[in-house]
Amino acid sequence: MGNYSIALVPGDGIGPEVLSLAVDVLDAVGDKYDHVFNYVELIAGGKAIDSTGEPLPAETLEAAKQCDALLLGAVGGPKWDTLPGHLRPERALLGLRSGLGVYANLRPASLFPQLRLACPLKDEVLIAGNSEGKPDFDLLIVRELTGGLYFGERGRSADGNSAFDTETYSKAEIERVLRVGYSAAKLRRKKLCVVDKANVLESSRLWREVSGEIAKEYSDIETSYLYVDNCAMQLIRAPGQFDVIVTSNLFGDILSDEASVLTGSIGMLASASLAGSGCVSGKEPVMGIYEPIHGSAPDIAGKDIANPLAAILSTAMLLRYSIGLEKEAAAVETAVSAVLDQGLRTGDIASRNGASDKEKIVGTIEMGKAVLKVLEEK
Ligand code: NAD
Repeated sequence: MGNYSIALVPGDGIGPEVLSLAVDVLDAVGDKYDHVFNYVELIAGGKAIDSTGEPLPAETLEAAKQCDALLLGAVGGPKWDTLPGHLRPERALLGLRSGLGVYANLRPASLFPQLRLACPLKDEVLIAGNSEGKPDFDLLIVRELTGGLYFGERGRSADGNSAFDTETYSKAEIERVLRVGYSAAKLRRKKLCVVDKANVLESSRLWREVSGEIAKEYSDIETSYLYVDNCAMQLIRAPGQFDVIVTSNLFGDILSDEASVLTGSIGMLASASLAGSGCVSGKEPVMGIYEPIHGSAPDIAGKDIANPLAAILSTAMLLRYSIGLEKEAAAVETAVSAVLDQGLRTGDIASRNGASDKEKIVGTIEMGKAVLKVLEEK
């Protein structure tokens, strides 16, 4: 029996809606496999701005540091959009990431076979580049999370007529995230693609230099390089060619949203942000932030139509990477697959040519409860 402490940041918009179902799932896993999850609910983002005037109160970060992992919904919304940059809800994300040292963001994007008709690509596009000749893809984006453009120096000229953001990377920052990528590739199809803009950016040329050195240590992994513009194109031209993609903070942010559409919806993509390679390389579990990759989706908040599966799949990653419970993680993933087998769909993952007879459109809560039911029954 294990006893674990989990920090919870429900956040804004659909964050609390999807997170409460993810917590129910964790509790069901606890009951089934005899673990206790103790939750510490914390505020960050818009909610924290409203009650304390700042997006990331110091107490939130301190309390999160005492926990085994942090599960986050999403932050942000139009209410706070006009605040100055350093007071915006999204600053809370950056503060949590740097404060907890979670520099490697794992964003798996694969196609559940049940969602084939929710994927906008034709069979021949999916088959292109797929080594098994199947209309399928299974890729992992490893995004550097605590450096680059989102953390570089920024500012405005005195007259306000120009602004700048800087992309800065050290060799050490590049090396450590690459090593997480290689550890993941070893357990997968042994291919790693470094995505950059080395034809223009000096920081990208440093990425190539460092990865050229590191690649020699991983001779069993096939290393390749792509410019980010080409990668954006290849993702919709032949996603099956990719196994692990390692890239910078900005490029990873954008490419993973693109990849999410191929899975059917952004509501399907979970993520883990890790403070080391930990379980990815078969070592001890490490602290991590787990969250769906989507934002607070203010356009659908409060309507019971958000897809909770990305948040629920994030709990599987939490169990796997920050607690080291592989069997329990797999049980959550199997339960998600089972509800898709039952034909249950939130609107965002219905077949693109209209929901088929075998599909039933359900709301956020019904989808979450269906996952729980499978977990409790199996
Ligand atoms: P978004 O991801 O919130 O929404 C983009 C689109 O996807 C919207 O049409 C939305 O309805 C849809 N969508 C998102 N999640 C969904 C789900 N689970 N089920 C069904 N549909 C879903 O991105 P945005 O609109 O660019 O940003 C909204 C707010 O969220 C902004 O304030 C932004 O800064 C913030 N944001 C936060 C995070 C985070 O907390 N990690 C990430 C991205 C954006």
